[in-house]
Amino acid sequence: MRWGLIGASTIAAEHMIGAIRASGGQITAVMSSNAERAASYAANHRINAGVTDLGAVLDGVDAVYISTTNDMHLPQAMAAIAAGKHVLCEKPLAMNVADAVSMVRAAEQAGVTFATNHHLRNAGSHLAIREVITSGRIGEVLSVRVFHAVHLPPHLQGWRIDNPAAGGGVIPDITVHDADTVRFHLGEDPVEVVAMKTARGMGQGVEDSAMSVWSMPSGTMVHTHESFTHAFAGTGIEVHGTQGSIIARGVMTQQPVGEIVVRSEAGEEALPFATHGLYDRAVEVFAKACAGEGEPAATGVDGVKSLAVAAAVSEAAETGKRTTVDYGGI
Ligand code: NDP
Repeated sequence: MRWGLIGASTIAAEHMIGAIRASGGQITAVMSSNAERAASYAANHRINAGVTDLGAVLDGVDAVYISTTNDMHLPQAMAAIAAGKHVLCEKPLAMNVADAVSMVRAAEQAGVTFATNHHLRNAGSHLAIREVITSGRIGEVLSVRVFHAVHLPPHLQGWRIDNPAAGGGVIPDITVHDADTVRFHLGEDPVEVVAMKTARGMGQGVEDSAMSVWSMPSGTMVHTHESFTHAFAGTGIEVHGTQGSIIARGVMTQQPVGEIVVRSEAGEEALPFATHGLYDRAVEVFAKACAGEGEPAATGVDGVKSLAVAAAVSEAAETGKRTTVDYGGI
């Protein structure tokens, strides 16, 4: 598959270029808004062309990977879809739910594959957790707790911590991932949320920490904590059921790492899981979907829904009111 990269980004450099190449994909060009950065990024990553024109990056490719700042995803995805290209778009898909819905609808009409790059549902750890839940081994799920408070490394402390217009803030950055992961595990969509947020140490004009509680149609309660400022907290997810609990530590991450135990009357048992690259699997499944085989790991609809939950968390934190998640009719 021939790929164009829209965005001379860190995530592409650190994870996605390698994942695309591991899948057998060929990257023909990278687009940046800055000609010098386009050229140096292309040279650094052995990409034939560094361009500034969207038409040029779309020329001759089958698919694009969009990893610009969040405000740019909508126009760039719409242009790629209009040119008949398959699109793997970074989360959050857009700045609001209506825009994300329009991207998904446009892709449906154009008959192209449109996916969201939610990496966590590709992790061996999360695939194993979901299997335990769906097998019924822990019984009926009563509650889920997500610990996703990290310390944002200095090289990522740009637009994320001071630019709301580009989509900064921990809610668009991390709460969307937690929303997708919880939806993936429970197979249902949050209904209402309550939330609080703060900026304490890193956020300038955007929140750097958030906590929220979500209700689910089944009655399961979900509690999540996201932050950019917690150097020593570690990440994890706990799923508590009537017959047992899943305790997973270090699994809300970009690496195939962590530890999982299943606790029940029988005691504690370590849960083994596969350790393939998260982004490798995301690209592999996306490429198959483009070839007509199955669906992407996280579809465009999944991207709309994770954004809708994050938007509700943001609104609830802003207003102090219990907020119904609006999925934009999707
Ligand atoms: P970066 O800040 O690295 O890149 C975003 C844009 O910023 C680039 O497209 C580039 O614009 C510009 N930029 C990059 N480096 C510089 C620089 N040195 N000077 C000036 N401008 C620069 O963002 P990330 O890679 O961290 O995130 C990009 C997207 O990917 C976001 O939507 C984010 O939410 C998502 N993301 C997803 C992850 C996942 O696991 N799914 C993980 C990390 C990010 P231009 O292209 O015009 O050069």
